[in-house]
Amino acid sequence: MNNYDFIIIGAGCSGLSLLYEMNKNNILKNKTCAIFDKRKQFSKDKIWSYWNVFEHSFSDCLLDKWDKVVVKGNEEIVLDCKDFTYQSVDSEKFYNKILKNISDNKNIKFFLDRSVDEIIEENSQITIKSKNEIFKANLVFDSSLKNTNTNDTKIYQHFHGCEINFKESINLSKYPILMDFNCDQGSWTHFFYTLPLGDKKIFIETTWISNQQNLAKEQYISEINEYIQRNLNYKKEYTIEYNETGSIPMFHFQPKTDYKKLIKIGTAANLTRKSTGYTFLNIQKFTKELVQKLIKNQNITNTQIQLKYNFLDRIFIKVLLDEKENMHKIFLRLFKKNKTKDIINFLSNSSNFFQDIKIILSMPKLIFIKKLLNF
Ligand SMILES: Cc1cc2nc3c(=O)[nH]c(=O)nc-3n(C[C@H](O)[C@H](O)[C@H](O)COP(=O)(O)OP(=O)(O)OC[C@H]3O[C@@H](n4cnc5c(N)ncnc54)[C@H](O)[C@@H]3O)c2cc1C
Repeated sequence: MNNYDFIIIGAGCSGLSLLYEMNKNNILKNKTCAIFDKRKQFSKDKIWSYWNVFEHSFSDCLLDKWDKVVVKGNEEIVLDCKDFTYQSVDSEKFYNKILKNISDNKNIKFFLDRSVDEIIEENSQITIKSKNEIFKANLVFDSSLKNTNTNDTKIYQHFHGCEINFKESINLSKYPILMDFNCDQGSWTHFFYTLPLGDKKIFIETTWISNQQNLAKEQYISEINEYIQRNLNYKKEYTIEYNETGSIPMFHFQPKTDYKKLIKIGTAANLTRKSTGYTFLNIQKFTKELVQKLIKNQNITNTQIQLKYNFLDRIFIKVLLDEKENMHKIFLRLFKKNKTKDIINFLSNSSNFFQDIKIILSMPKLIFIKKLLNF
């Protein structure tokens, strides 16, 4: 029988976080859950970083954490974040922890290598179709980016990152570099992101914000090579241990809302901050809230980041579209003119009214007011 209490589409960050929290809170003791993913297996495919403003369940899956971060342009800005350390979760540890946690629960069924092709809600019954098989559920949680339209201009934060082992000693920054704009800006916004992982090991990511979804892998690799030679001044041999490629949408989805038993989760639920791509911690926060509602038998509806952030991010993106060549200056200004705590709270959706105002007033006013009036 293909009948389940819950179906989760996507065993990625949001789908597995939800499965884990449901299992941990005994929701799946007497209820069944099927989880579908088109992937065939779980292996390290992402490093999720964030400022730890919210206690979540995966602090034992860290790659590392740091109490300072750096932003670089024509000057270097060091942000002291010891109150909210900057942390990176290793997706492999995350997947392993969850798979181990749920392994004994016979009420959970995994369907890997199974794409969900269709979702239909009719006569208060929700069904999904996968490989021509029909599955029924009382509630479906969906992290796929199917049926998600947008009215916004489609731009993406797209990137390729590598964990690099240098053969010989090299002088690396002790702290993560969130943005290093000392690189070719092209006609859009381009920066490098690095995480120090030891004396001879670093994660380097070349990141673009543009209207393209990605670049050819060779292009990304040649940018990283150039960064190593020019910015790190290292011309000897190195090996690549792991690499990841991503493309985070910087526009708002308008998910199908007429389905009452279909709850969007993750990026598909607009949990990505459009100005930065930060999503991991939002997923953890919303998952815990969702599970509390399930425990209390409350009505589950689609959820989203506080509207003020969506509104401000939309203005930010409009500025970005017009000021591509100046974005590095705008980002540097944001980090230079504000207190670290205000920036972190703002970028992590936990700022208060006064912090919002300070951040807004630190931006180039004329440019932002013009966009606000055009809204
Ligand atoms: C490489 C990368 C690095 C990132 N780094 C950070 C970071 O440092 N910090 C941060 O906050 N955010 C980061 N993000 C953004 C965000 O946190 C991640 O994208 C996060 O994984 C989003 O979770 P999700 O569940 O929405 O999507 P995913 O984790 O991508 O999970 C969706 C799952 O659904 C499956 N799927 C999709 N369609 C179907 C279908 N039709 N049928 C069956 N299965 C389907 C996919 O195979 C996938 O496994 C990063 C994103 C990427 C891509």
